[in-house]
Amino acid sequence: MMISDTVKLSVSLKNTRALVIFDKKTKSYRVVDCSRKSFCRVYVSKNCPPFCEIIVSVKDYALKRRTPKAEVFEL
Ligand SMILES: [Zn+2]
Repeated sequence: MMISDTVKLSVSLKNTRALVIFDKKTKSYRVVDCSRKSFCRVYVSKNCPPFCEIIVSVKDYALKRRTPKAEVFEL
């Protein structure tokens, strides 16, 4: 059996919905889709910046730092 450190997460916060792949080992993430993508792209291309509320919640959830502000579901 292969154990993966990668989780696929569905995140919803207010009117933002996103699908993020997060690697617990490297703490890296990839935003597959985000309804706020156009806003985040102003700062960083093709991914949300670390201060994006979606990413903050993903890290809170995946790294068990604190209760995430957004609703996070593992897919
Ligand atoms: Zn974002």
